[in-house]
This record gives sequence, C-alpha cells and structure tokens, in this order.
Amino acid sequence: MKKNIAIVGAGFSGAVIANQLAQAGYTVDVFESRPHIAGNCHSERDPETNVMVHVYGPHIFHTDNERAWEFVNRYAEFKPYVNRVKAITGGRVFTLPINLLTINNFFGKTFRPAEAQAFLESVADKSIENPQTFEEQALRFVGRELYEAFFKTYTIKQWGLEPSQLPASILKRLPVRFNYDDNYFNHKYQGMPANGYTELVENVLKVPGITVHLNTRFDPADKGNYEHVFYSGPIDAWFKHAEGRLPYRTLDFEVFRDKGDYQGNAVVNYCDDAEPYTRITEHKHFSPWEKHDGTIMYKEYSRQCEENDTPYYPIRQAREKAQLEKYVNLAKDEPNVTFVGRLGTYRYLDMDVTINEALITSDKFLEAAKSGARMPAFAIDPLA
Ligand code: UDP
Repeated sequence: MKKNIAIVGAGFSGAVIANQLAQAGYTVDVFESRPHIAGNCHSERDPETNVMVHVYGPHIFHTDNERAWEFVNRYAEFKPYVNRVKAITGGRVFTLPINLLTINNFFGKTFRPAEAQAFLESVADKSIENPQTFEEQALRFVGRELYEAFFKTYTIKQWGLEPSQLPASILKRLPVRFNYDDNYFNHKYQGMPANGYTELVENVLKVPGITVHLNTRFDPADKGNYEHVFYSGPIDAWFKHAEGRLPYRTLDFEVFRDKGDYQGNAVVNYCDDAEPYTRITEHKHFSPWEKHDGTIMYKEYSRQCEENDTPYYPIRQAREKAQLEKYVNLAKDEPNVTFVGRLGTYRYLDMDVTINEALITSDKFLEAAKSGARMPAFAIDPLA
C-alpha cells in the first residue's frame, strides 16, 4: 500500500515533487513555514497600485529545457517576456549583458562585430588560461575597464566579497555578445506567468491527495510518520546546524511608489559605488500587457544572512564546500529523506533547473519504489 509522503517547503521543488507523487497515487502533506506558497518566487498584487509584485525580488523564467518549459506551461498561461537590463555606471546608462552597443557606447566607438571582438581580445588578459575566479573570468573575457565599470563594485555589493574570492561560474551566468542583441538570457524559451508565480505554483499543487499546511514547520523528529520525506529547507537546519551555519546572502528591499513610469524598464542595475544598492526593480514592467497608473519599485540591498533572515544566495567558496560536504555525509546516513532544491542542496539554482531536478527526483523515487531500491539522499550530487 502506498503511504504518506511529507514534503518540506512549497517552493518549486516541493510543489513539483508533490504534483508528481500525488498523480502517482501517493498522499502528500506539504509543510510550509511561511504564510504563502511559491517560496522566493512568490508574487502578489500590491493593494495600492494593483501591480503584480515579485515579493522576493525579480524572477524571470528562461530555459532551454523542454520538460521544464512544458511543465510550467501546463499549469499557467505564459506571456512573452524578454529581460533587457539597463546598467548605470560612471553616471551613464548602458545595456547589459555586455553587447555591441555596450562596447561601442562605453568606448565611444562604432565597431562592427569582428572589430569589437578583436578590440576586446586586445584588452583581455590572455595570460589567464583557465579562469577560476570571477575576477579572472572577467579580466580574461572583457578586460579591466569593463570589469571595473560593470562587475567589480556590483559584485562586492552583491556578495560582500572580492571577485577574486568568488567562482568564475557566477560571471558565466551572463553572456558577452558581439551583436546588438541585449536579451539578458541566451535561452530558447523566456516568459512570465500572466497571473504571477504564486498562481502557477497553486495550480501545480491542485492535485487530489495533496494537503498544504501553511505556517507549519516540519519537525525532523516526525519523519517516522511518513514513508519518505523530501526536504527543500536549508540542509544545515535539518541537522540543527551541527556543522555550523552555511552562509547565505539575504536581500532587503526598500519599497517605494510613484505615478506613471519611474525608470522606463523592469530592472536597472547600479554598478558603481555612487549608490549602496545593486538594482531597482519596477515591477509593472514585468507585466507589459497590463495597464497601471501607479507604479511600485524595490531598491535592492544585499547583506549577510543572519539567523532570522530569509536565505537567498548560497556562498559556495572552498570553505563552505568543505562544510557542505560534512552535511552531505550526514544526509547520506539519514534514511528516507531526500534533500532537494536551492536550500536543500546549497546551490545557486534558476527556476527551470529547480523544476527539472524536481522532476528527475520524482522519477527516481517512483522507479526506486517500483524496484524496492533505496531512494538516495540526493537525486543530484550537490558537490558537483
Ligand atoms: N553582475 C555584475 N553586474 C551586473 C550584473 C551582474 O557584476 O550589473 C554579477 C554579480 O556578481 C551577480 C552575477 O553577475 O551576482 C550574476 O548576475 P545575475 O543577474 O544572474 O544575478 P541574479 O539576478 O541571480 O541576482
């Protein structure tokens, strides 16, 4: 007989696994400590302006993954949306990611693609053969001037660390282009759920057999009541921080409202130290198909995450990876629990990757249940 499954967290990881297992006939209890579902993707309408707000900061859905794209489109109407970021540095406005217009505007040139490419190669530090750090990656591919104008200070504001201490993978999130394409992402599919992410997650959870318990913390001591637990909370919290707290960055938002159009774009980054914040998000531009007289903005400040803050970005330097490894070993000795998602595996995950991994995790669980094999603590290696 199929028994109950507990899922901790009602973000994308938890909701997708609940969806898949409930459809396979399991009874699923989802425990969410916050008063809402959808985790940090949660969106709600601002009562004053009626604008759909990304409550925990900007989330733009973009993917090359057919399965994740098909999944989200099954549960929500997606509107076409292309993220085009503007960046202010040295008192001037540029387009990001770095593209031909950025290069030409910044250097006062009229380069064509091959000329811009040759120019960046001439200013790049070619002595860096295999960039390991964020700084090396920047110096190798865009050279010192663009690095210092767009990345260095923003990154110090965002991470509280020198770019020489951060992995190259963080900068690799951003493309560099030698044409005038200023789409922030390289992916085949990009869009915005017409009625917000929370409605999408609500639909994902609308399967007979799923019960969502809001404002409810799951006590690991209760795991024996369930056949299996999928845990998308912070991995160190499951083990009562036995190996110390894994560090995160958290965000503070200064919310303000205005009439009309405040900044003409959804996201404007502030790349130098003229401003202490990293970016301003004007939420109504995420829903260009809607009309609003009022407008609501978030000024975004990043800082170290303390005990009662919401964790956002995991800081995976060498020391933290060693600490994570200890938690991974503890998790591998914990029967009937699988750790999933950004917090459960301590990785910087985009929404599409989270959804795809949750689908893979569900597949593995259903296969294991069929064959009688043990479901592992991780469906995806968090140390890879
Ligand atoms: N970044 C930067 N300047 C910018 C935008 C991004 O230096 O104007 C760096 C920064 O370190 C940031 C990383 O690139 O953390 C990844 O940027 P992304 O926009 O993907 O960050 P997210 O939207 O996930 O916060």
